[in-house]
Amino acid sequence: MAGRLAARLDVSALADVLEFLDDNGALKARHMIFGGGAVRVDRSGGESVVATVGPAVFTALPVDTTRRAEIEEAEWIEPDWRVRLRETRTRAVSRVNLGAARKVVCPGRGVAKQEDLAMIDELAQVMGAEVACTRPLAEGLDWLPRERYIGISGAHIKPDLYLGVGVSGQVQHMVGMSSSRVVVAINKDENAPIFSQSDYGIVGDLYEVVPALIQALKERK
Ligand SMILES: Cc1cc2nc3c(=O)[nH]c(=O)nc-3n(C[C@H](O)[C@H](O)[C@H](O)COP(=O)(O)OP(=O)(O)OC[C@H]3O[C@@H](n4cnc5c(N)ncnc54)[C@H](O)[C@@H]3O)c2cc1C
Repeated sequence: MAGRLAARLDVSALADVLEFLDDNGALKARHMIFGGGAVRVDRSGGESVVATVGPAVFTALPVDTTRRAEIEEAEWIEPDWRVRLRETRTRAVSRVNLGAARKVVCPGRGVAKQEDLAMIDELAQVMGAEVACTRPLAEGLDWLPRERYIGISGAHIKPDLYLGVGVSGQVQHMVGMSSSRVVVAINKDENAPIFSQSDYGIVGDLYEVVPALIQALKERK
C-alpha cells in the first residue's frame, strides 16, 4: 500500500524505517531490507517520502498541549470499489502491550506442546514479565495471539530484559528484540545463533532449566 501511495504521489517509498537522519536538510533513513537480513541508508528523492515503521520502533514524545495542528477539511470522494465485501468478522482483541513491557519471556519452537506454555506463563509470572513468542507459535501453530510475536513482521520491543526459551535466533526474530538491554537465552544447542547476541546463555534442556529457574526465583521471594 505504501508503494502504491508513493507512486500516486510521485515520491519515494521506504519500508521498515529504523531511524530518520537529517542530511543537510534532505531526508535520509536507515531501514531494513531483505526481510531484516540487512540495514541500508537511503536518501529520499524529494522533500516528501512515504515510510512504513514497525510498532514501538520509535518512542512517543510526551503530549504537548501547546501544539496545535492545522486542520484541513477534505471532501469525501466515494471510491470506485473493485473489492466486494463478503463477510465481516470481529477480531479477538489482545490486551498485550509488548512495547511497554520491561521484562519479556519469549518461548520458541523449542517448546514441544501447547500445554507446556503453562510453564512459561508461570516463569513470566514469578519474573513479573510479559509473554511474547516467535512467529511459528503465533502463525502456524496458533498457540498465542499474533500480537505477541516479535520480529520483522511482528512487534519491536525494547525491554530491560528479554529471555528467549527454545528460540534459535533467526534474523527475522532478532531484529524485533535487538534493542533489549539484557538478552538471556536458554537453548539446548550450544551453536544456536541466539547465543552470539546474548549477554547470558544457558545451554540446556528448557524442560529442566525452566522449572529450576521458577523454583530458584520463588525461593528468593
Ligand atoms: C519473510 C519472513 C518474515 C519472518 N518474520 C518473523 C518474525 O517477525 N518473527 C519471528 O519470530 N520469525 C519470523 N520469521 C521466521 C524465522 O525465520 C524463524 O523461522 C523463526 O523465528 C524461528 O522460530 P523459533 O526460534 O521459535 O524456532 P526454531 O528456529 O525451530 O528454533 C527452535 C530452537 O529451540 C531449540 N530447542 C529445541 N528443543 C529444546 C529444548 N528442549 N530445550 C532448549 N532448547 C530447545 C533448538 O535448538 C532451536 O534452536 C520470518 C520468516 C520469513 C521468511
